[in-house]
Amino acid sequence: MDQRPLDEMLRAKEGDAGCTAGEDILDAYVELELAGEDPARVYPGTAIHLESCPGCRADHDGLLEAARRFGDLGPSTDD
Ligand SMILES: [Zn+2]
Repeated sequence: MDQRPLDEMLRAKEGDAGCTAGEDILDAYVELELAGEDPARVYPGTAIHLESCPGCRADHDGLLEAARRFGDLGPSTDD
């Protein structure tokens, strides 16, 4: 397999964390937002990325919506 990392192609802006870095910390990012903190200060690369990546924005918006609605992040599984 000779796949160019998608992350590399999407790194349009300087400081952009890219999709791979973003998805790992989206949960924490949303938690900071809900806590009234400024997530862009903690995860500046993710903040930049969210501005330029519709896919991650959608993920972020979904997490934020779910967190607001249910007061918790993600499905509660006990497997
Ligand atoms: Zn992305």
